[in-house]
Amino acid sequence: MHSNTYSKRVSEFFLAQLGEWELAARNFRQLEKVKIRHLDFGGFEVLVQFNPERYRSTAAKTDSGSIEARPCFLCERNRPPQQRGLPFDDQFTVLLNPYPIIRRHLTIVSNSHVEQRIMNNFGKMLSIAAALPDYVVFYNGPQCGASAPDHLHFQAVSRGFMPLEKDFESQRFTHVVSTGPGYEILYWTGYLRGIVTLKGREKEILENLFESVYEKLSLLTVNRAGSGQGSELSLRDQPEHTTEFRSPGDDSRLPGTGNPADQSRNAEMEPMMNILVYRNTENLIVHIIPRKKHRPGQFFAAGSDKITISPASVDLGGLVITPREEDFDKLTENDISDIFRQVCVGEDELYRMLKG
Ligand SMILES: [Zn+2]
Repeated sequence: MHSNTYSKRVSEFFLAQLGEWELAARNFRQLEKVKIRHLDFGGFEVLVQFNPERYRSTAAKTDSGSIEARPCFLCERNRPPQQRGLPFDDQFTVLLNPYPIIRRHLTIVSNSHVEQRIMNNFGKMLSIAAALPDYVVFYNGPQCGASAPDHLHFQAVSRGFMPLEKDFESQRFTHVVSTGPGYEILYWTGYLRGIVTLKGREKEILENLFESVYEKLSLLTVNRAGSGQGSELSLRDQPEHTTEFRSPGDDSRLPGTGNPADQSRNAEMEPMMNILVYRNTENLIVHIIPRKKHRPGQFFAAGSDKITISPASVDLGGLVITPREEDFDKLTENDISDIFRQVCVGEDELYRMLKG
């Protein structure tokens, strides 16, 4: 069922939706003339896009109080009447994203209102990517850019727009950390953000590899809710979710984990991460970008220090979205380095984790 035929059906569905949904059609048209800046990091680029329509997503309140107070915009009963769906299977439906970043932009939603979690759904993500070879399928963790953390969903955008794709192809930043029949695990250096890449042909092998990376991340991170106590992080300035990354072998108790409420929260949360998957001829490529923080300090700053960037998969894929023009104009290479450093796990830390 999910072959080139499905990909063709998605293209037809996409064009049909543009013909019948004025708001979406206008937003996709505006994307054609969107402003882009190229920031040069000597060997690779980060692109910055000025996109005012993304403000609601970038600045979305994703704390549980705000989420509970609003009708879920991914549930079928709350969707706009013009937004039709194309079934993927009996569990997931493909929708047009009416606030696009890239000229083809889909949201693939679970048919039931269940929480955003990757474990047990990673296999589905691979199936979606395999069925949509023209797209990069991505997952934003519940505290890493998902604006509906209460409703399981993936997104997909046209291939060829995120620098990460060609930087991976160039092989200049990646190194094989382990390999086996039909797969490779790679890590990145000199690229501002720690990334683990899985490459393989068999879905089952990739699922097993993902599970082992997930386990390592779970062991090395302690999830923290913003209301946590005793953290050395300044939670007053960062009233949101953060993760503390531990060095391998460090089994000292972290402040706050003795609290039963924290412990149960740790059990129900997942390690913070963004994931991008696409099909490259016979292989599936999986980029896992572990996270330390939801949003950088600049997001909460006042006055001229403020930068409204809330990094998620596409931003960390090298296409940074700025909904405010003043940020778009002033953003420098140093700002990007600083923001990536705050929200991502360092390359060295990640390498130690993979080897440990
Ligand atoms: Zn929902």
